[in-house]
Amino acid sequence: MILPPATLGMLGGGQLGRFFVLAAHEMGYRVIVLDPDRNSPAGRAADEHLCAAYDDAEALELLAQRCAAVTTEFENVPADTLDHLAKFIPTRPNAACVAVAQNRIAEKTFLSDRGFAVGPFAAVTSAPDIESADPSLFPAVLKVARFGYDGKGQARVNNVAEAKAAFESFKREACVLEKMLTLDLEVSCVLARDAGGRIAAFPIAENSHRNGILDVSIAPARISGALAAEATEIASGIAAELGYVGVLGVEFFVCGGQLMVNEMAPRPHNSGHYTIDACVTSQFEQQVRILCGLPLGDARQHSRAVMVNLLGDLWFRQDAHHSQEPAWSTLLRIPGLKLHLYRKHHARGGRKMGHFTVLGEAGEPVIDTAMNARLAIGIDD
Ligand code: ADP
Ligand code: MG
Repeated sequence: MILPPATLGMLGGGQLGRFFVLAAHEMGYRVIVLDPDRNSPAGRAADEHLCAAYDDAEALELLAQRCAAVTTEFENVPADTLDHLAKFIPTRPNAACVAVAQNRIAEKTFLSDRGFAVGPFAAVTSAPDIESADPSLFPAVLKVARFGYDGKGQARVNNVAEAKAAFESFKREACVLEKMLTLDLEVSCVLARDAGGRIAAFPIAENSHRNGILDVSIAPARISGALAAEATEIASGIAAELGYVGVLGVEFFVCGGQLMVNEMAPRPHNSGHYTIDACVTSQFEQQVRILCGLPLGDARQHSRAVMVNLLGDLWFRQDAHHSQEPAWSTLLRIPGLKLHLYRKHHARGGRKMGHFTVLGEAGEPVIDTAMNARLAIGIDD
């Protein structure tokens, strides 16, 4: 076991890294963050911020020397970086798992080869792949295989011609062409799996998106116990097949009552932010625990929770050209509401700036309070 006050390494300086730093600090650990952005939210909270590229040899040597173990908050960290660090210190999750989750072709192929249900798709690495794709895939979504997030690098396409145009607009980067599905709803499972194969799964969250970006998560999801158990079982099966050690987020589509895996994230997940306030152990504490070889914490949810994301658009409601702080007092006067702001340097449209979680005893009032608070702060559709 790696015990406090050991120093832990974090690759990536976004809000997920920041919550990891906060959880690690509470437990008495020190954290060094590697991120090329001088103003990264995690870097600003860490004991030390190495402001360098993810493949900077000097920075990696420093991490290997000074950290007892290293993890990531960011699936696009180069697999070589993780492989290199793993020669010196425990690196969780490992490069092979991250490589599967960071490439939509590898991810969907891995899932379907192992019998996990995914929606119909075709891998596209050249224009002829589009011409030979099953016509029943249309209308479809073309998604770049790598580096897409929050709906970026995606285009809705109705036919071969539109798909080819979108492929050109993505500079012929490798893509997946996915059938556009009619969704009953979307849910996700965040779980932690330790080196001994033990799994602690958080309750399933029900997610709604706006412009391809997570907007609201309701936990527990308003689905049958059987469907929730099935989602947990599928996510656990994926983690086991991957030999995954760390925190894993699995997104699902529910179509005609059936679960289909959408994608997975080799890190804590936005839809798991409710665990910070509503569970005995948060997804970030689990990440610390697994990294350090501690026993898994209790994933039990003690309060009903609804999480609402706060995007940069809110800062530009009064004036499209000048950012203005939203009226936080509106939220802060609600007793069961927990506000989390990530201290990002600049607000930008679509950028995740913070979130809030409303807690309570009963499901419906929590949803009502959260949706009213969401409206009151100015998220109006
Ligand atoms: P990201 O990496 O941006 O989260 P996703 O593949 O999860 O990418 O897509 C973002 C959202 O877009 C999904 O949560 C879902 O709401 C919608 N979406 C994506 N793919 C499909 C699809 N094949 N059919 C219907 N909706 C989709
Ligand atoms: Mg997604």
